[in-house]
Amino acid sequence: MTSQSRKSGVDPVAKAYVDAINKWTKDYGIDFKKSLEGDEVTDAQRKNLEKLNSKKLVWTEHSTCEGNYYSSGYTIFSEDSCCWRSLAFHIGSKPWVGDEDTLIQFEATVYMPCSVCNADGEGDGEEDCPGPGVPKGASRDDCEDGYINWFFD
Ligand SMILES: [Zn+2]
Repeated sequence: MTSQSRKSGVDPVAKAYVDAINKWTKDYGIDFKKSLEGDEVTDAQRKNLEKLNSKKLVWTEHSTCEGNYYSSGYTIFSEDSCCWRSLAFHIGSKPWVGDEDTLIQFEATVYMPCSVCNADGEGDGEEDCPGPGVPKGASRDDCEDGYINWFFD
């Protein structure tokens, strides 16, 4: 395989997700150096997050039953929730626009068909599929049964 064909093999859908994340960090001035791990927030940091949240500057990175998201607002999920957990809090310099019912979301992980062996999402994939090229800003698991777990964080 030449470097040219590897380059053209970058998964276009994964690239679109990376572009969306890059646009998100740019549009809202997200500074990952200020990010806090979900389970390591002190009382003082929590108070600060609440203050920043009133200015609409906080985003919650969290799991769901389907995948992980970056969602507008400072959110702590119930301990009882099956798979919804706050993983991290990200702080921007430009507020998101909306009220308490507003939810702006970006995918941090996506489980989707492999563009090499299961492009139409209808098949079961191929044995030992190398999978598509990985765009800068993304990572992924191996292709398994025609599907791949992608990470955009
Ligand atoms: Zn594959």
